[in-house]
Amino acid sequence: MLPLLEKIIENPRYKKQEKTLIEKAYFFAKTAHGGQKRLSGEEYITHPLHAAYFLSELGLDAITVAACLLHDTVEDTRLTAKDIEKEFGKEISFLVDGVTKLGKIEYSEKHGLDQKQNANRISSLKKMFFAMADDIRVILIKLADRYHNMETLKYHQREDQKRIAKETLEIFAPIAARLGMGYLKGQFEDMAFPYIYPAEYSWLMKQVKTKYADNLNYIERAKPLIKRKLEDSGIEIIEMNSRVKHYYSLYQKLLRRDMDFNKIFDLVAMRIILPDIKSCYETLGIIHNFYKPLPGLIKDYISLPKPNGYQSLHTTIFCEKGKIVEIQIRTAGMHDYAENGIAAHWAYSESGKKKPVKTDTKDIQWVTQLKNFLKEIKTGEEFSNLKIDFFKNRIFVFTPKGEVKDLPEGATPVDFAYAIHTDLGHAILGAKANNKIVPLHYELKNGDVVEILKGKNPKPSFDWLKIVKTAEARKKIKSWFRDSPAPQNLQYVAPVSAEKKIIPKPPARKRKQQKTAPVLISEPACREYIEPVIQGQRGFLYKLAKCCNPTPDKTIKGYMTLNRGVSVHLSSCSNIKSAQETRILSAHWPIEKSEK
Ligand code: MN
Repeated sequence: MLPLLEKIIENPRYKKQEKTLIEKAYFFAKTAHGGQKRLSGEEYITHPLHAAYFLSELGLDAITVAACLLHDTVEDTRLTAKDIEKEFGKEISFLVDGVTKLGKIEYSEKHGLDQKQNANRISSLKKMFFAMADDIRVILIKLADRYHNMETLKYHQREDQKRIAKETLEIFAPIAARLGMGYLKGQFEDMAFPYIYPAEYSWLMKQVKTKYADNLNYIERAKPLIKRKLEDSGIEIIEMNSRVKHYYSLYQKLLRRDMDFNKIFDLVAMRIILPDIKSCYETLGIIHNFYKPLPGLIKDYISLPKPNGYQSLHTTIFCEKGKIVEIQIRTAGMHDYAENGIAAHWAYSESGKKKPVKTDTKDIQWVTQLKNFLKEIKTGEEFSNLKIDFFKNRIFVFTPKGEVKDLPEGATPVDFAYAIHTDLGHAILGAKANNKIVPLHYELKNGDVVEILKGKNPKPSFDWLKIVKTAEARKKIKSWFRDSPAPQNLQYVAPVSAEKKIIPKPPARKRKQQKTAPVLISEPACREYIEPVIQGQRGFLYKLAKCCNPTPDKTIKGYMTLNRGVSVHLSSCSNIKSAQETRILSAHWPIEKSEK
Protein backbone atom coordinates (compact mmCIF):
# COMPACT_ATOMS: atom_id res chain seq x y z
CA MET A 1 0.00 0.00 0.00
CA LEU A 2 1.21 3.48 -0.84
CA PRO A 3 2.42 5.45 2.18
CA LEU A 4 0.06 8.32 1.37
CA LEU A 5 -2.96 6.02 1.33
CA GLU A 6 -1.80 4.55 4.61
CA LYS A 7 -1.64 8.01 6.10
CA ILE A 8 -5.22 8.71 5.08
CA ILE A 9 -6.48 5.38 6.37
CA GLU A 10 -4.64 5.75 9.64
CA ASN A 11 -6.27 9.07 10.36
CA PRO A 12 -8.08 8.35 13.63
CA ARG A 13 -11.10 10.39 12.64
CA TYR A 14 -12.27 7.69 10.24
CA LYS A 15 -14.21 4.76 11.59
CA LYS A 16 -13.56 1.27 10.35
CA GLN A 17 -16.37 1.43 7.80
CA GLU A 18 -15.11 4.75 6.51
CA LYS A 19 -11.59 3.42 6.11
CA THR A 20 -13.05 0.60 4.05
CA LEU A 21 -14.90 3.12 1.89
CA ILE A 22 -11.76 5.18 1.27
CA GLU A 23 -9.75 2.08 0.44
CA LYS A 24 -12.44 0.86 -1.91
CA ALA A 25 -12.53 4.21 -3.69
CA TYR A 26 -8.76 4.18 -3.99
CA PHE A 27 -8.57 0.74 -5.62
CA PHE A 28 -11.58 1.47 -7.79
CA ALA A 29 -9.98 4.67 -9.10
CA LYS A 30 -6.58 3.03 -9.47
CA THR A 31 -8.04 0.27 -11.60
CA ALA A 32 -10.07 2.77 -13.64
CA HIS A 33 -7.07 4.93 -14.40
CA GLY A 34 -5.15 1.74 -15.23
CA GLY A 35 -1.95 2.51 -17.07
CA GLN A 36 -2.52 6.28 -17.24
CA LYS A 37 0.45 8.39 -16.25
CA ARG A 38 0.87 11.92 -15.00
CA LEU A 39 3.22 14.19 -16.92
CA SER A 40 5.69 13.70 -14.09
CA GLY A 41 5.84 10.03 -15.13
CA GLU A 42 4.09 8.87 -12.00
CA GLU A 43 1.02 6.64 -11.96
CA TYR A 44 -2.11 8.75 -12.50
CA ILE A 45 -3.58 7.67 -9.15
CA THR A 46 -0.91 9.68 -7.34
CA HIS A 47 -2.80 12.83 -8.31
CA PRO A 48 -6.22 12.06 -6.79
CA LEU A 49 -4.36 10.48 -3.90
CA HIS A 50 -2.45 13.69 -3.15
CA ALA A 51 -5.62 15.72 -3.40
CA ALA A 52 -7.49 13.27 -1.14
CA TYR A 53 -4.68 13.31 1.39
CA PHE A 54 -4.85 17.09 1.37
CA LEU A 55 -8.56 16.97 2.18
CA SER A 56 -8.16 14.29 4.84
CA GLU A 57 -5.57 16.49 6.54
CA LEU A 58 -8.15 19.25 6.56
CA GLY A 59 -10.40 16.94 8.49
CA LEU A 60 -12.88 16.32 5.73
CA ASP A 61 -15.27 13.42 6.01
CA ALA A 62 -14.73 10.04 4.34
CA ILE A 63 -17.41 10.68 1.71
CA THR A 64 -15.58 13.74 0.42
CA VAL A 65 -12.19 12.01 0.56
CA ALA A 66 -13.60 9.05 -1.38
CA ALA A 67 -15.20 11.38 -3.93
CA CYS A 68 -11.88 13.14 -4.30
CA LEU A 69 -10.11 9.84 -5.02
CA LEU A 70 -12.68 9.27 -7.75
CA HIS A 71 -12.76 12.86 -8.99
CA ASP A 72 -11.13 12.25 -12.38
CA THR A 73 -12.67 8.86 -13.16
CA VAL A 74 -15.75 10.04 -15.03
CA GLU A 75 -13.75 12.64 -16.92
CA ASP A 76 -10.73 10.54 -17.84
CA THR A 77 -11.78 6.88 -17.82
CA ARG A 78 -14.55 4.78 -19.25
CA LEU A 79 -16.54 4.95 -16.05
CA THR A 80 -19.78 6.91 -16.02
CA ALA A 81 -21.60 8.75 -13.25
CA LYS A 82 -24.01 5.79 -13.19
CA ASP A 83 -21.14 3.40 -12.44
CA ILE A 84 -20.03 5.57 -9.54
CA GLU A 85 -23.54 5.79 -8.18
CA LYS A 86 -24.02 2.03 -8.43
CA GLU A 87 -20.79 1.36 -6.59
CA PHE A 88 -20.66 4.23 -4.10
CA GLY A 89 -24.14 5.68 -3.81
CA LYS A 90 -25.80 8.95 -4.69
CA GLU A 91 -23.82 11.36 -2.52
CA ILE A 92 -20.37 10.41 -3.80
CA SER A 93 -21.66 10.27 -7.34
CA PHE A 94 -23.14 13.74 -6.92
CA LEU A 95 -19.82 15.12 -5.71
CA VAL A 96 -17.80 13.45 -8.49
CA ASP A 97 -20.31 14.74 -11.00
CA GLY A 98 -19.94 18.27 -9.65
CA VAL A 99 -16.15 18.10 -9.93
CA THR A 100 -16.41 16.62 -13.44
CA LYS A 101 -18.55 19.55 -14.53
CA LEU A 102 -16.03 22.00 -13.17
CA GLY A 103 -13.28 20.14 -15.01
CA LYS A 104 -14.97 20.60 -18.35
CA ILE A 105 -14.78 24.33 -18.17
CA GLU A 106 -12.31 26.32 -20.24
CA TYR A 107 -12.06 29.14 -17.81
CA SER A 108 -9.76 31.46 -19.66
CA GLU A 109 -10.93 33.64 -22.48
CA LYS A 110 -10.90 31.96 -25.86
CA HIS A 111 -10.52 33.69 -29.17
CA GLY A 112 -11.77 32.52 -32.53
CA LEU A 113 -14.71 30.56 -31.22
CA ASP A 114 -17.83 30.41 -33.31
CA GLN A 115 -21.10 31.41 -31.78
CA LYS A 116 -22.20 27.97 -30.77
CA GLN A 117 -18.88 27.05 -29.23
CA ASN A 118 -18.87 30.26 -27.32
CA ALA A 119 -22.40 29.73 -26.10
CA ASN A 120 -21.38 26.28 -24.87
CA ARG A 121 -18.42 27.74 -23.10
CA ILE A 122 -20.50 30.35 -21.39
CA SER A 123 -23.09 27.83 -20.39
CA SER A 124 -20.37 25.68 -18.86
CA LEU A 125 -19.03 28.65 -16.98
CA LYS A 126 -22.49 29.19 -15.60
CA LYS A 127 -22.68 25.56 -14.53
CA MET A 128 -19.50 26.12 -12.66
CA PHE A 129 -21.10 28.72 -10.53
CA PHE A 130 -24.23 26.70 -10.09
CA ALA A 131 -22.14 23.75 -9.03
CA MET A 132 -20.38 26.00 -6.60
CA ALA A 133 -23.66 26.92 -5.10
CA ASP A 134 -24.80 23.29 -5.01
CA ASP A 135 -22.29 22.01 -2.54
CA ILE A 136 -19.22 23.53 -1.08
CA ARG A 137 -17.49 20.14 -0.90
CA VAL A 138 -17.30 20.19 -4.69
CA ILE A 139 -15.35 23.41 -4.47
CA LEU A 140 -13.07 22.06 -1.77
CA ILE A 141 -12.25 19.00 -3.90
CA LYS A 142 -11.61 21.32 -6.82
CA LEU A 143 -9.34 23.51 -4.72
CA ALA A 144 -7.39 20.46 -3.56
CA ASP A 145 -7.19 19.27 -7.18
CA ARG A 146 -5.98 22.68 -8.32
CA TYR A 147 -3.47 22.91 -5.51
CA HIS A 148 -1.80 19.65 -6.52
CA ASN A 149 -1.94 20.64 -10.18
CA MET A 150 -0.17 23.90 -9.38
CA GLU A 151 2.43 21.98 -7.36
CA THR A 152 3.15 19.82 -10.40
CA LEU A 153 2.81 22.57 -12.99
CA LYS A 154 6.50 22.42 -13.87
CA TYR A 155 5.95 19.16 -15.78
CA HIS A 156 3.56 20.79 -18.25
CA GLN A 157 4.32 22.31 -21.63
CA ARG A 158 4.92 26.02 -21.54
CA GLU A 159 1.58 26.89 -23.17
CA ASP A 160 -0.38 24.73 -20.73
CA GLN A 161 1.51 26.17 -17.80
CA LYS A 162 0.38 29.62 -18.84
CA ARG A 163 -3.23 28.61 -19.35
CA ILE A 164 -3.51 26.71 -16.08
CA ALA A 165 -1.76 29.45 -14.15
CA LYS A 166 -4.09 32.00 -15.69
CA GLU A 167 -7.15 30.01 -14.62
CA THR A 168 -5.72 29.76 -11.13
CA LEU A 169 -5.15 33.48 -11.02
CA GLU A 170 -8.46 34.50 -12.53
CA ILE A 171 -10.86 31.88 -11.24
CA PHE A 172 -9.49 29.94 -8.29
CA ALA A 173 -7.78 32.75 -6.42
CA PRO A 174 -10.99 34.81 -6.45
CA ILE A 175 -12.95 31.75 -5.29
CA ALA A 176 -10.57 31.32 -2.38
CA ALA A 177 -10.95 35.01 -1.66
CA ARG A 178 -14.70 34.69 -1.72
CA LEU A 179 -14.50 31.89 0.79
CA GLY A 180 -12.57 34.30 2.96
CA MET A 181 -9.38 32.26 2.59
CA GLY A 182 -7.19 35.26 2.06
CA TYR A 183 -4.04 33.26 2.55
CA LEU A 184 -4.93 30.60 -0.01
CA LYS A 185 -5.84 33.33 -2.45
CA GLY A 186 -2.41 34.87 -1.99
CA GLN A 187 -0.78 31.49 -2.39
CA PHE A 188 -2.63 30.66 -5.60
CA GLU A 189 -1.66 34.05 -7.00
CA ASP A 190 1.96 33.69 -6.03
CA MET A 191 2.15 30.18 -7.53
CA ALA A 192 0.68 31.44 -10.81
CA PHE A 193 2.61 34.70 -10.99
CA PRO A 194 5.98 33.44 -12.37
CA TYR A 195 4.26 31.43 -15.13
CA ILE A 196 2.12 34.27 -16.38
CA TYR A 197 4.49 37.18 -15.95
CA PRO A 198 7.97 35.61 -15.78
CA ALA A 199 9.90 38.81 -16.54
CA GLU A 200 7.89 40.86 -14.08
CA TYR A 201 8.24 38.16 -11.46
CA SER A 202 12.00 38.00 -11.68
CA TRP A 203 12.21 41.78 -11.74
CA LEU A 204 10.14 41.90 -8.56
CA MET A 205 12.23 39.20 -6.88
CA LYS A 206 15.37 41.24 -7.51
CA GLN A 207 13.71 44.36 -6.21
CA VAL A 208 12.33 42.93 -3.01
CA LYS A 209 15.31 40.79 -2.12
CA THR A 210 16.35 43.03 0.74
CA LYS A 211 13.28 45.25 1.06
CA TYR A 212 11.12 42.76 2.91
CA ALA A 213 13.76 41.99 5.48
CA ASP A 214 14.58 45.67 5.98
CA ASN A 215 10.96 46.58 6.49
CA LEU A 216 10.33 43.66 8.78
CA ASN A 217 13.30 44.61 10.92
CA TYR A 218 12.17 48.20 11.10
CA ILE A 219 8.65 47.23 12.19
CA GLU A 220 9.99 44.85 14.80
CA ARG A 221 12.10 47.69 16.21
CA ALA A 222 9.21 50.18 16.17
CA LYS A 223 6.78 47.74 17.78
CA PRO A 224 7.94 48.02 21.43
CA LEU A 225 7.96 51.82 21.18
CA ILE A 226 4.36 51.94 20.03
CA LYS A 227 3.36 49.23 22.47
CA ARG A 228 4.75 51.27 25.32
CA LYS A 229 2.83 54.40 24.28
CA LEU A 230 -0.43 52.46 24.07
CA GLU A 231 0.07 50.71 27.40
CA ASP A 232 0.93 53.99 29.06
CA SER A 233 -2.46 55.24 27.91
CA GLY A 234 -4.16 52.25 29.45
CA ILE A 235 -4.78 50.25 26.29
CA GLU A 236 -4.86 46.52 26.73
CA ILE A 237 -3.15 44.88 23.74
CA ILE A 238 -3.95 41.30 22.83
CA GLU A 239 -1.30 40.97 20.18
CA MET A 240 0.96 42.95 17.89
CA ASN A 241 2.35 41.37 14.76
CA SER A 242 3.61 42.08 11.26
CA ARG A 243 2.03 41.04 8.04
CA VAL A 244 4.09 40.69 4.88
CA LYS A 245 2.48 41.44 1.55
CA HIS A 246 2.16 38.65 -1.02
CA TYR A 247 4.25 39.09 -4.15
CA TYR A 248 1.47 39.20 -6.68
CA SER A 249 -0.65 41.64 -4.76
CA LEU A 250 2.45 43.76 -4.24
CA TYR A 251 3.07 43.72 -7.97
CA GLN A 252 -0.52 44.74 -8.67
CA LYS A 253 -0.17 47.63 -6.28
CA LEU A 254 3.11 48.70 -7.87
CA LEU A 255 1.34 48.87 -11.21
CA ARG A 256 -1.08 51.33 -9.69
CA ARG A 257 1.73 53.32 -8.08
CA ASP A 258 4.03 54.00 -11.03
CA MET A 259 6.21 51.00 -10.09
CA ASP A 260 7.55 53.14 -7.28
CA PHE A 261 8.37 51.25 -4.09
CA ASN A 262 8.40 54.54 -2.22
CA LYS A 263 4.66 54.72 -2.81
CA ILE A 264 4.02 51.33 -1.24
CA PHE A 265 3.50 51.83 2.45
CA ASP A 266 2.29 48.37 3.37
CA LEU A 267 5.07 46.08 2.15
CA VAL A 268 5.11 45.05 5.76
CA ALA A 269 2.25 46.35 7.89
CA MET A 270 1.94 46.43 11.64
CA ARG A 271 -1.12 44.84 13.18
CA ILE A 272 -2.53 45.64 16.57
CA ILE A 273 -5.17 43.28 17.95
CA LEU A 274 -7.35 44.66 20.72
CA PRO A 275 -10.17 43.38 22.93
CA ASP A 276 -12.97 45.67 21.72
CA ILE A 277 -14.04 48.30 19.21
CA LYS A 278 -13.72 51.13 21.70
CA SER A 279 -10.03 50.42 22.21
CA CYS A 280 -9.55 50.31 18.41
CA TYR A 281 -10.67 53.91 18.02
CA GLU A 282 -8.77 54.93 21.16
CA THR A 283 -5.64 53.32 19.81
CA LEU A 284 -6.05 55.13 16.51
CA GLY A 285 -6.31 58.41 18.41
CA ILE A 286 -3.26 57.73 20.55
CA ILE A 287 -1.17 56.75 17.55
CA HIS A 288 -2.20 59.88 15.67
CA ASN A 289 -1.30 61.89 18.73
CA PHE A 290 2.29 60.68 18.51
CA TYR A 291 2.72 60.10 14.81
CA LYS A 292 1.33 62.26 12.04
CA PRO A 293 -1.02 60.33 9.75
CA LEU A 294 -0.83 60.73 5.98
CA PRO A 295 -3.96 62.52 4.88
CA GLY A 296 -6.48 60.47 2.96
CA LEU A 297 -5.10 57.13 4.14
CA ILE A 298 -7.12 56.69 7.31
CA LYS A 299 -9.65 53.98 6.54
CA ASP A 300 -12.47 52.99 8.81
CA TYR A 301 -13.52 49.54 7.69
CA ILE A 302 -15.11 49.03 11.09
CA SER A 303 -17.94 51.45 10.37
CA LEU A 304 -17.86 50.62 6.68
CA PRO A 305 -16.77 47.00 6.23
CA LYS A 306 -15.47 45.81 2.86
CA PRO A 307 -17.97 43.84 0.73
CA ASN A 308 -16.53 40.52 1.93
CA GLY A 309 -17.10 41.55 5.54
CA TYR A 310 -13.54 42.59 6.31
CA GLN A 311 -13.32 44.99 9.23
CA SER A 312 -10.33 46.93 10.51
CA LEU A 313 -9.00 50.44 11.00
CA HIS A 314 -6.11 51.30 8.70
CA THR A 315 -3.86 54.29 9.04
CA THR A 316 -0.58 55.21 7.47
CA ILE A 317 1.71 57.24 9.69
CA PHE A 318 5.10 58.87 9.75
CA CYS A 319 6.49 56.42 12.27
CA GLU A 320 9.78 56.40 14.16
CA LYS A 321 12.51 58.30 12.29
CA GLY A 322 9.86 59.56 9.86
CA LYS A 323 9.45 56.26 8.03
CA ILE A 324 6.01 55.71 6.56
CA VAL A 325 4.24 52.66 7.97
CA GLU A 326 0.73 51.22 7.63
CA ILE A 327 -0.94 50.17 10.85
CA GLN A 328 -3.99 47.92 10.98
CA ILE A 329 -6.06 48.04 14.14
CA ARG A 330 -8.84 45.55 14.83
CA THR A 331 -10.48 43.41 17.48
CA ALA A 332 -9.57 39.75 17.92
CA GLY A 333 -12.91 38.84 16.36
CA MET A 334 -12.29 40.98 13.30
CA HIS A 335 -8.83 39.53 12.98
CA ASP A 336 -10.19 36.02 13.15
CA TYR A 337 -12.59 36.89 10.37
CA ALA A 338 -9.93 38.58 8.26
CA GLU A 339 -7.72 35.50 8.51
CA ASN A 340 -10.27 32.72 8.35
CA GLY A 341 -13.09 34.28 6.42
CA ILE A 342 -16.11 32.11 6.32
CA ALA A 343 -14.48 29.73 8.79
CA ALA A 344 -14.54 32.40 11.46
CA HIS A 345 -18.06 33.28 10.52
CA TRP A 346 -19.10 29.68 10.92
CA ALA A 347 -17.42 29.43 14.29
CA TYR A 348 -19.31 32.49 15.49
CA SER A 349 -22.70 31.36 14.43
CA GLU A 350 -22.10 27.95 15.98
CA SER A 351 -20.68 28.84 19.36
CA GLY A 352 -21.44 32.53 19.59
CA LYS A 353 -17.93 33.30 20.78
CA LYS A 354 -14.54 33.35 19.18
CA LYS A 355 -11.29 31.64 19.94
CA PRO A 356 -7.96 33.31 19.24
CA VAL A 357 -6.28 32.33 16.01
CA LYS A 358 -2.93 30.68 16.42
CA THR A 359 -0.35 31.90 13.98
CA ASP A 360 1.00 28.84 12.27
CA THR A 361 3.88 28.81 9.84
CA LYS A 362 2.70 30.45 6.67
CA ASP A 363 2.64 27.30 4.60
CA ILE A 364 0.03 25.58 6.69
CA GLN A 365 -1.80 28.62 7.91
CA TRP A 366 -4.58 28.42 5.38
CA VAL A 367 -4.89 24.69 5.92
CA THR A 368 -5.57 25.48 9.53
CA GLN A 369 -8.19 27.94 8.45
CA LEU A 370 -10.00 25.33 6.42
CA LYS A 371 -9.59 22.79 9.17
CA ASN A 372 -11.31 25.00 11.67
CA PHE A 373 -13.96 25.66 9.14
CA LEU A 374 -14.59 22.00 8.49
CA LYS A 375 -14.35 20.80 12.04
CA GLU A 376 -18.02 20.82 12.75
CA ILE A 377 -19.28 20.07 9.31
CA LYS A 378 -20.23 16.55 8.44
CA THR A 379 -23.26 16.44 6.28
CA GLY A 380 -24.12 17.98 2.95
CA GLU A 381 -27.03 19.74 4.54
CA GLU A 382 -24.85 21.82 6.77
CA PHE A 383 -22.64 22.66 3.83
CA SER A 384 -25.55 23.90 1.83
CA ASN A 385 -26.61 26.11 4.71
CA LEU A 386 -23.18 27.62 4.62
CA LYS A 387 -23.26 28.45 0.98
CA ILE A 388 -26.06 30.88 1.56
CA ASP A 389 -23.70 33.01 3.54
CA PHE A 390 -20.91 33.02 0.97
CA PHE A 391 -22.85 33.88 -2.06
CA LYS A 392 -25.73 35.77 -0.62
CA ASN A 393 -24.38 39.16 -1.46
CA ARG A 394 -22.55 38.54 -4.71
CA ILE A 395 -23.61 37.64 -8.23
CA PHE A 396 -21.56 36.48 -11.19
CA VAL A 397 -22.42 37.77 -14.63
CA PHE A 398 -20.71 37.38 -17.97
CA THR A 399 -19.60 39.59 -20.82
CA PRO A 400 -20.55 38.28 -24.27
CA LYS A 401 -16.98 36.97 -24.50
CA GLY A 402 -17.44 34.95 -21.35
CA GLU A 403 -15.46 37.15 -19.02
CA VAL A 404 -16.88 36.95 -15.52
CA LYS A 405 -17.80 40.03 -13.53
CA ASP A 406 -18.41 39.72 -9.85
CA LEU A 407 -20.93 42.28 -8.58
CA PRO A 408 -22.99 42.88 -5.47
CA GLU A 409 -26.54 41.60 -5.44
CA GLY A 410 -28.96 44.08 -6.99
CA ALA A 411 -26.34 45.45 -9.37
CA THR A 412 -27.68 46.82 -12.66
CA PRO A 413 -26.36 46.97 -16.24
CA VAL A 414 -25.01 50.42 -15.37
CA ASP A 415 -22.84 48.91 -12.60
CA PHE A 416 -21.76 46.22 -15.02
CA ALA A 417 -20.79 48.73 -17.72
CA TYR A 418 -18.76 50.78 -15.26
CA ALA A 419 -17.11 47.63 -13.94
CA ILE A 420 -15.84 46.92 -17.44
CA HIS A 421 -14.70 50.40 -18.34
CA THR A 422 -15.45 53.94 -17.28
CA ASP A 423 -16.05 55.03 -20.88
CA LEU A 424 -18.44 52.18 -21.47
CA GLY A 425 -20.36 53.18 -18.35
CA HIS A 426 -20.60 56.79 -19.46
CA ALA A 427 -21.84 55.80 -22.91
CA ILE A 428 -24.39 53.15 -21.94
CA LEU A 429 -27.69 53.52 -23.80
CA GLY A 430 -29.29 50.23 -23.02
CA ALA A 431 -28.48 46.65 -22.22
CA LYS A 432 -29.32 43.11 -23.14
CA ALA A 433 -29.35 40.27 -20.67
CA ASN A 434 -29.31 36.87 -22.34
CA ASN A 435 -30.09 38.54 -25.67
CA LYS A 436 -33.19 40.30 -24.39
CA ILE A 437 -33.38 44.05 -23.98
CA VAL A 438 -33.60 44.94 -20.30
CA PRO A 439 -34.08 48.28 -18.60
CA LEU A 440 -31.08 50.04 -17.15
CA HIS A 441 -32.34 49.40 -13.65
CA TYR A 442 -32.77 45.66 -14.30
CA GLU A 443 -31.37 43.63 -11.42
CA LEU A 444 -28.72 41.37 -12.86
CA LYS A 445 -29.06 37.67 -12.06
CA ASN A 446 -26.39 35.07 -11.46
CA GLY A 447 -25.27 33.71 -14.81
CA ASP A 448 -26.70 36.50 -16.97
CA VAL A 449 -24.78 37.22 -20.15
CA VAL A 450 -24.85 40.99 -20.37
CA GLU A 451 -24.28 43.05 -23.46
CA ILE A 452 -24.05 46.81 -23.17
CA LEU A 453 -25.56 48.94 -25.93
CA LYS A 454 -23.24 51.86 -26.26
CA GLY A 455 -23.71 55.36 -27.63
CA LYS A 456 -21.11 57.38 -29.46
CA ASN A 457 -20.63 59.96 -26.77
CA PRO A 458 -20.53 59.84 -22.99
CA LYS A 459 -23.91 60.88 -21.64
CA PRO A 460 -24.30 59.87 -18.02
CA SER A 461 -27.53 60.71 -16.26
CA PHE A 462 -28.03 61.82 -12.70
CA ASP A 463 -30.83 59.29 -12.45
CA TRP A 464 -28.28 56.54 -12.66
CA LEU A 465 -27.18 57.39 -9.15
CA LYS A 466 -30.50 55.97 -8.01
CA ILE A 467 -30.03 52.64 -9.72
CA VAL A 468 -26.36 51.78 -9.26
CA LYS A 469 -25.27 49.49 -6.44
CA THR A 470 -21.49 49.73 -6.67
CA ALA A 471 -19.45 52.52 -5.15
CA GLU A 472 -17.28 52.38 -8.25
CA ALA A 473 -20.13 53.31 -10.60
CA ARG A 474 -21.42 55.98 -8.27
CA LYS A 475 -18.00 57.54 -8.01
CA LYS A 476 -17.48 57.54 -11.76
CA ILE A 477 -20.88 59.09 -12.48
CA LYS A 478 -20.34 61.81 -9.93
CA SER A 479 -16.89 62.60 -11.15
CA TRP A 480 -18.15 62.85 -14.71
CA PHE A 481 -20.60 65.52 -13.67
CA ARG A 482 -17.95 67.24 -11.62
CA ASP A 483 -15.35 67.19 -14.36
CA SER A 484 -17.50 67.88 -17.38
CA PRO A 485 -17.98 71.42 -18.66
CA ALA A 486 -21.10 73.00 -17.20
CA PRO A 487 -23.17 73.64 -20.34
CA GLN A 488 -22.94 70.01 -21.28
CA ASN A 489 -24.08 69.09 -17.81
CA LEU A 490 -27.10 71.23 -17.61
CA GLN A 491 -29.23 69.29 -19.95
CA TYR A 492 -28.81 66.11 -17.95
CA VAL A 493 -29.34 67.35 -14.46
CA ALA A 494 -33.09 67.58 -14.40
CA PRO A 495 -34.49 64.43 -12.80
CA VAL A 496 -36.90 62.31 -14.76
CA SER A 497 -39.69 62.92 -12.32
CA ALA A 498 -39.79 66.63 -13.09
CA GLU A 499 -41.17 65.89 -16.51
CA LYS A 500 -43.15 62.89 -15.68
CA LYS A 501 -46.87 63.07 -15.95
CA ILE A 502 -48.91 60.98 -13.61
CA ILE A 503 -51.85 59.50 -15.35
CA PRO A 504 -54.93 58.68 -13.34
CA LYS A 505 -55.56 55.03 -13.70
CA PRO A 506 -58.84 53.33 -14.43
CA PRO A 507 -60.17 51.89 -11.17
CA ALA A 508 -60.52 48.35 -12.49
CA ARG A 509 -56.75 48.03 -12.81
CA LYS A 510 -55.96 49.26 -9.39
CA ARG A 511 -54.39 46.24 -7.78
CA LYS A 512 -52.47 45.17 -10.83
CA GLN A 513 -50.90 48.51 -11.42
CA GLN A 514 -49.73 48.77 -7.87
CA LYS A 515 -47.80 45.60 -8.24
CA THR A 516 -45.96 46.65 -11.34
CA ALA A 517 -45.14 50.26 -10.45
CA PRO A 518 -41.53 50.74 -11.48
CA VAL A 519 -39.14 51.13 -8.59
CA LEU A 520 -36.86 53.41 -10.45
CA ILE A 521 -38.80 56.57 -10.83
CA SER A 522 -38.48 58.92 -7.95
CA GLU A 523 -42.18 59.36 -7.33
CA PRO A 524 -43.37 58.11 -3.97
CA ALA A 525 -44.51 54.52 -4.24
CA CYS A 526 -48.08 55.40 -3.35
CA ARG A 527 -48.61 57.43 -6.52
CA GLU A 528 -49.98 55.05 -9.06
CA TYR A 529 -49.83 55.12 -12.80
CA ILE A 530 -49.91 52.75 -15.66
CA GLU A 531 -46.57 51.55 -16.81
CA PRO A 532 -46.25 51.03 -20.56
CA VAL A 533 -44.95 47.74 -21.88
CA ILE A 534 -41.93 48.46 -24.03
CA GLN A 535 -40.44 45.87 -26.37
CA GLY A 536 -42.67 43.37 -24.62
CA GLN A 537 -41.30 44.16 -21.20
CA ARG A 538 -42.04 46.27 -18.19
CA GLY A 539 -39.68 48.05 -15.88
CA PHE A 540 -37.96 50.31 -18.38
CA LEU A 541 -36.75 53.68 -17.31
CA TYR A 542 -39.24 55.79 -19.24
CA LYS A 543 -41.01 59.10 -19.34
CA LEU A 544 -44.19 60.21 -21.07
CA ALA A 545 -43.50 62.73 -23.78
CA LYS A 546 -44.78 66.23 -23.19
CA CYS A 547 -45.36 66.91 -26.86
CA CYS A 548 -48.26 64.54 -27.37
CA ASN A 549 -49.38 63.55 -23.88
CA PRO A 550 -49.91 59.82 -24.46
CA THR A 551 -52.87 58.49 -22.53
CA PRO A 552 -53.77 54.84 -21.91
CA ASP A 553 -56.59 54.92 -24.45
CA LYS A 554 -54.25 55.66 -27.36
CA THR A 555 -51.63 53.63 -29.16
CA ILE A 556 -48.04 54.48 -28.30
CA LYS A 557 -44.44 54.04 -29.37
CA GLY A 558 -41.17 54.31 -27.49
CA TYR A 559 -38.16 56.37 -28.40
CA MET A 560 -34.80 55.37 -26.91
CA THR A 561 -33.30 58.62 -25.62
CA LEU A 562 -29.60 59.02 -25.14
CA ASN A 563 -29.57 59.29 -21.42
CA ARG A 564 -32.99 59.05 -19.90
CA GLY A 565 -34.37 55.75 -20.98
CA VAL A 566 -37.40 55.54 -23.20
CA SER A 567 -39.58 58.46 -24.07
CA VAL A 568 -43.15 57.31 -24.72
CA HIS A 569 -45.10 59.09 -27.47
CA LEU A 570 -48.41 58.63 -29.21
CA SER A 571 -47.99 56.59 -32.37
CA SER A 572 -49.47 59.54 -34.19
CA CYS A 573 -47.05 62.07 -32.70
CA SER A 574 -45.20 64.04 -35.38
CA ASN A 575 -42.00 63.88 -33.36
CA ILE A 576 -41.99 60.11 -33.32
CA LYS A 577 -42.76 60.03 -37.02
CA SER A 578 -39.70 62.08 -37.81
CA ALA A 579 -37.47 60.25 -35.29
CA GLN A 580 -34.50 58.08 -36.20
CA GLU A 581 -35.97 54.69 -36.95
CA THR A 582 -33.35 52.59 -35.19
CA ARG A 583 -34.30 54.16 -31.90
CA ILE A 584 -38.00 53.49 -32.08
CA LEU A 585 -39.22 50.75 -29.78
CA SER A 586 -42.54 48.99 -29.80
CA ALA A 587 -44.79 49.93 -26.90
CA HIS A 588 -48.30 49.35 -25.70
CA TRP A 589 -50.32 49.77 -22.55
CA PRO A 590 -50.66 46.65 -20.45
CA ILE A 591 -53.50 44.36 -21.40
CA GLU A 592 -55.48 43.33 -18.42
CA LYS A 593 -55.55 39.63 -17.73
CA SER A 594 -58.54 37.99 -16.09
CA GLU A 595 -58.14 37.38 -12.38
CA LYS A 596 -57.20 33.89 -11.40
MN1 MN B 1 -7.71 16.20 -11.05
